[in-house]
Amino acid sequence: MEKGKIIAIDGFSSTGKSTIAKAIARELNFLHVDTGAMYRAVTLYGIQENIISENDKENALQIVNHLDEIQITFRYNESENQNEIYLNGQNVENEIRSISVTNLVSYVAKIPEIRSFLVEQQRQLAWNHNIVMDGRDIGSVVFPQADLKLFITADAQVRAQRRFNEMEDKSETTLEEVKANLIQRDELDSGRENSPLVKCDDAIEIDNSNVSQEELMENIMRIVQSKI
Ligand code: C5P
Repeated sequence: MEKGKIIAIDGFSSTGKSTIAKAIARELNFLHVDTGAMYRAVTLYGIQENIISENDKENALQIVNHLDEIQITFRYNESENQNEIYLNGQNVENEIRSISVTNLVSYVAKIPEIRSFLVEQQRQLAWNHNIVMDGRDIGSVVFPQADLKLFITADAQVRAQRRFNEMEDKSETTLEEVKANLIQRDELDSGRENSPLVKCDDAIEIDNSNVSQEELMENIMRIVQSKI
């Protein structure tokens, strides 16, 4: 098999895209790639190497000079039943979800050289595989020829509350801060010049605000089965 099937899932922050992508991948036995994790891993590298910080967000451009030092890979974790991300051989699946990475990632993701670096890897990951990939520009830029494109939305208050409920250490932040961060990321991701978050004309929009996980997955699997 050379060209596999491709399902592209895009949408705003914390709409449940990755959870949906993971569930589809398990159901169809496709490979799941979370591209947000890749932008987060590059951001983590920038923080670890003291290139970027909260006070020096625009320094993200300097990461471009270090791209040859950044190796991103995925490995399947059988006990967790998911693909996990490695930065230069280290499993960083949990570290990339930290607040410091979350606050800086959109400044890193707007840099064209960093996007081309990751988009090329994303296309290579699909070589020889059936794949479900989630992110912001999968249907518009990475795989405009995808077999199915989904665009996931959800009300900002619902998204913030869900994200806050998932946090293990709630002393680190507040619901208001979580909401402000995701609204700011939506604005940065939608407003950037290079590969902004857009809903493609051929994407099917799914609102994940007021449905149960079961209803949502039933609806999505019906769409997937009819198209794939
Ligand atoms: O999906 P997640 O919220 O983990 O993505 C983190 C950030 O990575 C987004 O806010 C966005 O800035 C960036 N991103 C992107 N393009 C993608 C995936 C993520 O710009 N395909």
